[in-house]
Amino acid sequence: MSGKLYLVATPIGNLEDITLRAIQILKEVDLIAAEDTRHTLGLLNHLEISKPLISYHRHNEEVKTDILIEKLKEGENIALVSDAGTPVISDPGEEVVKACIKENIEVIPIPGACAAINALIASGLNAKRFEFMGFLSLNKKIRKQELEEIKEKSQTVILYEAPHKINNTLEDLEQIIPERNLVIAKELTKIHETFYRGTPQELQEKLENPKGEFIILIEGKKQEEKLNDFLTKLSLKEHYQYYEQQGLKKKDIIKKIAKDRNVSKNEIYQKFI
Ligand code: SAM
Repeated sequence: MSGKLYLVATPIGNLEDITLRAIQILKEVDLIAAEDTRHTLGLLNHLEISKPLISYHRHNEEVKTDILIEKLKEGENIALVSDAGTPVISDPGEEVVKACIKENIEVIPIPGACAAINALIASGLNAKRFEFMGFLSLNKKIRKQELEEIKEKSQTVILYEAPHKINNTLEDLEQIIPERNLVIAKELTKIHETFYRGTPQELQEKLENPKGEFIILIEGKKQEEKLNDFLTKLSLKEHYQYYEQQGLKKKDIIKKIAKDRNVSKNEIYQKFI
């Protein structure tokens, strides 16, 4: 009979954040597949667990998947862990999970810390509808597309980001969504855990010299923003009629159109003359 693959979540900073079940599974399995064996050894030493380790990281996922599947077929139970948090989430694991499903090998998630979810629940942003996008692409063209997509999303967007890139990403966000509220969750579960809130520009001022681990949460597109997009795509005449149908006076309509289009009242007034 095949063994089982356990996907075991580990702490994202505070070592107390490991579940009793996770500890039990790490004690019981035959083998632990780890993103970085030296890193996981630190955790195992802390938990006083001694187990054979095998490396399973982004650059050997394909080869190691075959090895793990072989071992599982031979009846070994394996725990997969990443350096921090939930395996597979912006971490290695997806390949071996897919291979297990194909081979009818049971995959069991062992819940625990996940940086994205903990950032979201304390963010104060809409947690009913959200999208986890992980790290933005390193490819400039794809990254630009992803940023454009974020602009249109009405759900909260969650991004992982490296400290040396965070200000660059905030600058990009300032260009496309200057008015949007953002939350930055820094160093969750650690001594310097901090939540920063504000627009992309305000956050750049607050994060002058970013150090540590960061998550960026972006408020979804607001109704007013959607209405503004709709109105500014209309011709000037249609835009005028939209407000006219609401019973507004000419003076007020011109004021509103100027505000929607971010131009002076005089400019709009001249066009109507
Ligand atoms: N699998 C992990 C999880 O469940 O969250 C994520 C791994 S991903 C390679 C690492 C990224 O997660 C970091 O660059 C950072 O964006 C985020 N992250 C991980 N731990 C964090 C923490 N303690 N505080 C804030 N962000 C964290």
